[in-house]
Amino acid sequence: MKANTKRCSRCKQHLPLDNYSKSVKSKDGKNNYCKVCNIEYQQESRKRVYDLNPPLQLLKRSCQAAFRRSQPNYSRDGYDHVSCSYKNVKEFFSDLWNDNQFRDDWVAQTNIYNMSGILKDRPTLDRIDSKRGYEKSNIRMLPHWKNVTEGALKECQVFVIKDTRIDHRIDYSGIGEAKKAIAALYRIPKNALNCVDHGTIVEADNGVNLLLQTNDGQLKVGNESKYIMVMNKYKILYDLVTGVEVARTHQQVQSEVSGIEIRSSAS
Ligand SMILES: [Zn+2]
Repeated sequence: MKANTKRCSRCKQHLPLDNYSKSVKSKDGKNNYCKVCNIEYQQESRKRVYDLNPPLQLLKRSCQAAFRRSQPNYSRDGYDHVSCSYKNVKEFFSDLWNDNQFRDDWVAQTNIYNMSGILKDRPTLDRIDSKRGYEKSNIRMLPHWKNVTEGALKECQVFVIKDTRIDHRIDYSGIGEAKKAIAALYRIPKNALNCVDHGTIVEADNGVNLLLQTNDGQLKVGNESKYIMVMNKYKILYDLVTGVEVARTHQQVQSEVSGIEIRSSAS
């Protein structure tokens, strides 16, 4: 074995030290499993723990995520800070798990989720009154699709603008869905579309601009003009006998032209 390599005790390959993460437990300061094996190992042990009691594990994860979201230093694009009345994750989890009605709902939905294996069926924590935080009697179980739908279903249209003309109009049942689709369609990061809902036209690649419009008229017809039309007016005086230009006056006329007209379909 070469000095700058190490044998992975899982896949048995001799690999350069770069392929190992740091470990304080090991003599040489490197993990005994290579990075690839270590990821696999962690996924497997996560699955083993999960399989012992799926609904319990899912609820723990949900409580952890919700609790993290309630911490003062929490920040993530598109997510508001939400308060939490529980002191820690354990208290949060126990309160829900010991509530028979809640636990029954949670277990039933977990069974559906385990059968379908589709994210939309995962049980989630829903705040009944969304203005209030995670607190006792304000939490119920909702399947993922319903939770997401109730929170963000807002019909909208996306206008694809090319050469100042609306080239295409696509209807979506929710803003999240629209952003995801546009991001995929025009290969732009989803985060870059955060501003789309604020009435600004966003420049995507390929000379295409995008505007997202919600039905509640949040984005009204813009008053400000986008283009200025310039007209040059010449007044030329000719000598009719010789045909020579004698005098010329020039006037430039500007007028504002609205290049893109968009109306809310709700009004
Ligand atoms: Zn390995």
